[in-house]
Parts: sequence; C-alpha cells; structure tokens
Amino acid sequence: MIPVTVLKDQTVALFGLGGSGLATAEALQAGGAHVVAYDDSERARLKAAEAGITVQDLREMDWSSVQALILAPGVPLTHPEPHWSVRLAQAHGVEIIGDIELFCRQRTATARRAPFVAITGTNGKSTTTALISHILRVAGRDVQMGGNIGTALLSLAPPKAGRVHVVECSSYQIDLAPGLDPTVGVMLNITPDHLDRHGTLEHYAAVKERLVRGVESDGTAVIGVDDDFSAAMADRAEQAGQYVVRLSMRRPLADGIWREGETLVVSEGGAERFRLNLAGIGALRGVHNAQNAAAAYATARALGVAPEIIAAAMTRFPGLAHRMEEVGHKGPVLFINDSKATNADATERALLSFEDIFWIAGGKPKAGGIAPLAPFFSRVRKAYLIGDAAQDFAATLGGAVPHEQNGTLDAALASALKDAEASGLSHPVVLLSPACASFDQFANFEVRGDAFCDLVKQIPGVNARERARH
Ligand code: ADP
Repeated sequence: MIPVTVLKDQTVALFGLGGSGLATAEALQAGGAHVVAYDDSERARLKAAEAGITVQDLREMDWSSVQALILAPGVPLTHPEPHWSVRLAQAHGVEIIGDIELFCRQRTATARRAPFVAITGTNGKSTTTALISHILRVAGRDVQMGGNIGTALLSLAPPKAGRVHVVECSSYQIDLAPGLDPTVGVMLNITPDHLDRHGTLEHYAAVKERLVRGVESDGTAVIGVDDDFSAAMADRAEQAGQYVVRLSMRRPLADGIWREGETLVVSEGGAERFRLNLAGIGALRGVHNAQNAAAAYATARALGVAPEIIAAAMTRFPGLAHRMEEVGHKGPVLFINDSKATNADATERALLSFEDIFWIAGGKPKAGGIAPLAPFFSRVRKAYLIGDAAQDFAATLGGAVPHEQNGTLDAALASALKDAEASGLSHPVVLLSPACASFDQFANFEVRGDAFCDLVKQIPGVNARERARH
C-alpha cells in the first residue's frame, strides 16, 4: 500500500467504494487523513465499514472542513451529468481529484525522482502497460504495475528511488488528475469511445492530452500519430518544448518509430538506429500490437534499457489473457482466445492477424453485427455461431462463408476442431473472437474466455500454454 501522507490530519470526503475507491480510502487513512466515505450501494458501504472506514452520507457532513473530494473513476464528473457528490463539492469550492492525483502528489513529496510511466489511449493501454512492465522486469528493474489494469494504484508499493511505477490511466482517471506528471507519458491513439462520459470527441481527446502535457520537463512523451487528434497533440507538445517520440504504423518517420512489415524501424534525424523484428512473437501479432510494441520500446529506451535487451524481452512476452491469447496447439491446429473482442472493430484485428480461420463468433449482438467484417471473410474457412447473434450472423455470412449454428461454445469448439483437423491446412487457427458481448451466456468476457481455455485444455492431445497472469 502507498500511505498517502500529503493529506495528513485533513478531512477528506470520498465517493465510490468499489475496488480502487476502497484501496484509496485505506491508503488515505493509513497516511493519517480523516476519511469520510460513501457509496450509493449498501453492499459497498458495509464492506468499507468492515474494513474500518468511516462511512457517512456525504449529504449530511459539514463541508466547511473538507479539504478534497476523492472520486472513484467510475463516477460521472461531467457527463452525462455531474454526480450529486460532485455538485456538493463544487457548491462548497472543494477540489475534486482521484487516486492518480494522490499518487502524483505523494511521489512529489516523498520520491521526486522515482520513475513513473503513465499510459493512455483508446485501445492498447493494458497490452502496452503489461509489455512495458515485462521489459523493465527482464531488464532487472524494480517494477510496480497497476492503475486501470490489475492492482489499484494505491495498493502498490510506495514510490522510491530506483523503483518504476507503470500505470495504466483511463480518461476518467486523467480527468481527476490535474497534476499528472509522469516521467514517460504514452498516448497510443484516439478513436471515438466513452463519449457518453466525455460529451464530445474533442473533450475526450483534450482529457487524454493532459497526460502528455503533464510529462516532466526532462521526461519523454511517446505518441502514436496515426490519427489526427494524436498527431496534433504531438505537434503541440513539441512546440511547447517537450521531447516527443512519435510512432506510426502507416508511414515512415525521419524521427520516431515506424513499421515496415513485421519490423519496427527506429529512426533519428533521418538515420536508421535500430530494427526490431516482431515476426514470430505470438503475443504481439498484428499491426495494432506493433504500435503497442513501438510504445513499449520507446518507453524502455527513455528509461535507459538497451535496445538488444528490449528486443530479447519482447520475444518472451506472454501477452494478456483474452486478447488474441494463444491457448495451445493440437498438431498444426492453433487455438486463440480473443474473448475481449466484444465488437466487430476488435474482431477485425484478429481476422487480420491470421489466415485459415475456423471462427467461433456470436453472443449478445452489438449494433451493426459483423457486416463491417465482410472484407475479411475470405480468411475464414468456416464460422461456428453461438448465442443470441447466431441467426443474424448466419444471414450476414450468407453464401460467402460456410457456417453452422452450434448454439453453445463447447459444441462450436468441437465442430471447429474437427473441421480444422480434417482441413489438411498447414496452420489452421480455431479462433474465438465473438464480436459480441457475452451476457447472453456468460457473466462477462473473462468468464467466456476462461471457459474456452478450459475446454481447449480438456481436448486429448492438446499442448496447452501456461496462461499469463497480471
Ligand atoms: P485497452 O486496455 O486500451 O482496452 P487492450 O490492450 O486491453 O486495450 O486491448 C484491447 C483490444 O483493443 C485488443 O483485443 C485489440 O483488439 C485492440 N487493440 C489493442 N492494441 C491496440 C492498438 N494499439 N490500436 C488499436 N487497437 C488495439
């Protein structure tokens, strides 16, 4: 835990007692703050009270002595409308911040030079965060990884000289961190997402830009420049005097890291400095993962890791569960769990990453279904359809792709395996990439992916991979 001492002896209101909220309350309390916490859910309140947190309705407290409102990132700050606790704080002129801000202030107060990497972007945050942590660990660094991935930030070990914190930041968390000041700030990409919470794409992008602009004066901003918002961000950062490393998966860069097939090229002043070959790294398949790898390379370099060590570490990256995760082989047949692909956009990346696909899809359908995937249907040998979406998907596939409706995941897997083995292809892939939410048949995408992995492991003759845990 990181005891937050910067609010010692102060009264702090806290709203939102889910995982990170509870951890934050405990960290503040351990640092000597007087925490008064609340949540709309009675269960969350009881759990916090059991953990020794003072729980009281914030509407009934005396706000004149409150130093700050600490908000959990899931609680609306601005859109669709400010939460009642936000309005209360605003009415009393009390600042509203989150756990990342507390971390930053604590780091400034206790371990100013401790390296701190912050990662954001619409897609790829978790993969990049895990990959950076993996590389730094292989390089022998003392690494603490958390935030929006895995462990709540304030449950990690405290910052100290020589220890690196690698922190995934959602836009909600950045919105609550006005003093965010990483040593290395990574901004991967901006595409429309979460606009229900940020109003407009411009506002969403402006929130993410704060992570880049906050980078310490001798730090590094790593920015993917393949979308207009991010490219403009990189230009502004540079004009403001920041050191920027640009990443492009679409075009060569004179300065920065760019992609040539499965190789990343590191260029400086028009000269090539290093080539990083990603071919054959199972956990980094696809152009999207090349961007994540480029960001991780730039970050590790900024922290002084040698190119050769980074390259060697990447070949051993186990990847993250449920994101094009290699589950195992049976003979030539490769099994891939991409359960996190809950929409067509995410499934597109998986279809682009393999050929000769025996595709298990379906679940609770999203608007538009799989129609946008038609350009990639030629890679699919056959589709095995499950869940509520099966009929609609069958209609979309029509005569273009052979398919069957299997109803359940186990039936689909059995059938896909039989066909893949009989195909005689040299590298057939049984891919679970549902392009659907899971809620019709599973509690969430993780449960669906775990079920797939368990089923694969039960197949006689399967050579299963050990699964990554973060
Ligand atoms: P996040 O933490 O931002 O949700 P993840 O690393 O968990 O991102 O990846 C989630 C999904 O997003 C992946 O399964 C893949 O489909 C897609 N993705 C990952 N990295 C990128 C990227 N750099 N650009 C675009 N899409 C990506």
